[in-house]
Amino acid sequence: MKILKIQPYLLENEIQHYAWGQKNDEAFIPKLIGITPQNDLPYAELWIGAHPKAPSKLIDTDLLEMIHSFPEEILGEKATARFRGNLPFLMKVLTAGEALSIQAHPNKAQAEILHEKDPENYPDNNHKPEIAIALDDLTALVGFRTIREMLNVLDNYPPIGEFVSPELLKGDNERESLKAFYTEIMTKAESNPDELELVLVKMDELISLKNEKSEADEFYIELRQKYGTDVGLFSLYFFNLLHLSQGEAVFLSAGIPHAYLKGNIIECMANSDNVVRAGLTPKFKDISTLVDILTYDTGLPIILQEDKNSYQTEYKVPVPDFAILMKKLKPGKEIKNFGKRLEIFIITEGQIHIQSGDFSDEYQKGDALLIPAALNCYKITATEPATLFSAIIPEN
Ligand SMILES: [Zn+2]
Repeated sequence: MKILKIQPYLLENEIQHYAWGQKNDEAFIPKLIGITPQNDLPYAELWIGAHPKAPSKLIDTDLLEMIHSFPEEILGEKATARFRGNLPFLMKVLTAGEALSIQAHPNKAQAEILHEKDPENYPDNNHKPEIAIALDDLTALVGFRTIREMLNVLDNYPPIGEFVSPELLKGDNERESLKAFYTEIMTKAESNPDELELVLVKMDELISLKNEKSEADEFYIELRQKYGTDVGLFSLYFFNLLHLSQGEAVFLSAGIPHAYLKGNIIECMANSDNVVRAGLTPKFKDISTLVDILTYDTGLPIILQEDKNSYQTEYKVPVPDFAILMKKLKPGKEIKNFGKRLEIFIITEGQIHIQSGDFSDEYQKGDALLIPAALNCYKITATEPATLFSAIIPEN
């Protein structure tokens, strides 16, 4: 039986080169982790965790293997029992050079059914609630606008109202009306691409004649050029267009439609890769599942704020799988931990020193570390102004 040395471990993390990532000198992830970007290769996501698709590496193994060999030492006793020996979360650095697909994530029960029916497109039987914390300025579409705002959109963009009747939105039960309206527009667009194209041509004309184009119009022009006859283009007008600044965050529970349009974020989610896509993508779209799993809540989502009175902000998320903390440390600031809990963190700014017993080492911007639950006492000292994002497993 191998024995695990109880100490912090530096993690080596896999990069996902999805098409919407950032390229060349612009690319955020290479700058963060200190590598030279390959010519014209998009850098989209850095995965920090133990998802089977891309587990982080350490020493001569990977984190998935290591947790399977030493679940209690790494996850802790309670979490091992609660999550059957699996790391319940996945942390990412995500950088949107271009818009990501419009998507929503299933809840646990829906994920189990989807995975059973279609494991190729739904690789996990797990839900995927996620939080996005802005590292700079983030532009994103999140959730439906209010019915009143959507009726205004139909007034201002008559081609959409000609395609699907605005009357559908006017029923007594808001949620049911919105579901009927959105289902109609999405299924009609999918089954009648020719008719959709005719509507989009009218939209092109209307938008090109506008003296003052809205931000949604600008995105429409850009994405129309890129994706052509794409059903997702309407969502630019039906969803809330949000701007988050550094340190602000939005939590996305199951069934909330969203798309990140531009910016760099820290994302933390339940350990799952289940995405139901509804447009602005060349990937598999699943309109019937999407309209089924949406909650049809309307209005602006809650924007979570940084706690400026403390060095540490805990972003509250209503799920058992993870909690996420941002720590901003001034030079010389010391944090002592006696927690006996797993912690995985990435340094996004600055430099720190970690000391635990005989263990002592320096880490810098871009480094990600695993603190196994069995390590019951360690000290972090900032040697430069430093920012850390930590994911932990909540107590209960
Ligand atoms: Zn998502």
